[in-house]
Amino acid sequence: MAEIQIQNLNKTYGAFHALKDMSLHIADGEFTVFVGPSGCGKSTALKILAGLEAASTGRILIGGEDVTDLAPGKRDIAMVFQNYALYPHLTVRQNIGFGLKMRGTSKQEIDKRVEHAAQALEITDLLDRRPRALSGGQRQRVALGRAIVREPRLFLMDEPLSNLDAALRVQMRAEITALQKRIGTTTIYVTHDQTEAMTMADRIVIMRKGVVQQIGSPDELFNRPANIFVAGFIGSPAMNFIRGTILAENGQWSVDAGSLRLPLGDNVAAAAAGYIGKEIICGIRPESLELAASGQPALEVVPSLVESLGNEAYVHFRMPGRQVAVAVAGEHEHEASSSGTLIARLFDGDRPVSGKTVRLALKPNSSVHLFDPVTEVAIS
Ligand code: ATP
Repeated sequence: MAEIQIQNLNKTYGAFHALKDMSLHIADGEFTVFVGPSGCGKSTALKILAGLEAASTGRILIGGEDVTDLAPGKRDIAMVFQNYALYPHLTVRQNIGFGLKMRGTSKQEIDKRVEHAAQALEITDLLDRRPRALSGGQRQRVALGRAIVREPRLFLMDEPLSNLDAALRVQMRAEITALQKRIGTTTIYVTHDQTEAMTMADRIVIMRKGVVQQIGSPDELFNRPANIFVAGFIGSPAMNFIRGTILAENGQWSVDAGSLRLPLGDNVAAAAAGYIGKEIICGIRPESLELAASGQPALEVVPSLVESLGNEAYVHFRMPGRQVAVAVAGEHEHEASSSGTLIARLFDGDRPVSGKTVRLALKPNSSVHLFDPVTEVAIS
């Protein structure tokens, strides 16, 4: 069993607090993704798990065993990094078997495990090549093979796909997910890419400035984000944020956002009771907007840009005084915050044209997310 318990983990570098009180329970066989912008502490957490960095305080248990002070080699963990550091003078077969050879595993056993891993990764025909005769994707498979043959109780992967081109990344992320499901080894995967997190994870741990923001399945994070940061980080294009005021009139709850009136479902209304008449921040996913039918109340906007992607279009627009710029991009967030431009993601109907007024409405039954403007925590 390789269930993992991370208990109140902290890491400081001098006065800098890189990881703040991280606690997490990971079930045996689970695929967990640590995601967040650059500098959020995800690699630091992974390095502490691997034993490459010492924790300042806190404990780590693997399969019930306290490994906090155990040397990396004694933790029974295999790591895969973005720079896969294969030995250039060794063949693929020798590269994959190298760790086992160092451990004194018999040649027969090494051959068996290497063949097995090569089959799983579909690189059997490459076993006698050297790394320079491999593509980037093939090299990454060899690096994975090296981890698999060790049959560890835990895989740690730190941005293993970031050196690959976009198409190969999409292919490899599906392959790694399928492989992990087949072999069932508990895996922790670090990435800054929310799409990678959403498509690969059983559970996502989303971090910001050393602090875990939310832990949940991809669906939970997408549908019930705990705060504005999570709401803005998960989903592409990002959620729109606008200022509004909660109204309760004749038993009908809504958000008044100037020229946009958003009806609220009963589930949200109960939580919003303490906010009647107050300003809140309202989150609307780009795909929750559509072209309004004629005669329907609508938000009239003038698109500053229309990006056509063939089967869909991203319509960029502004609501002066209403839109809220949300920073989700990194440690130096003032440099990276969005301009607050709002986006509607349209699938059907006539294609809007930039500079020409378009009428938008909220799709029926789509969620409106409400956030406290001071704490930025979800009101729900
Ligand atoms: P990235 O995606 O850029 O790798 P990350 O989320 O993995 O980011 P970490 O590498 O965990 O970030 O770093 C977290 C913070 O700790 C960063 O601000 C980084 O500068 C700092 N940090 C990491 N290692 C050290 C160190 N040895 N000394 C001082 N500060 C460090």
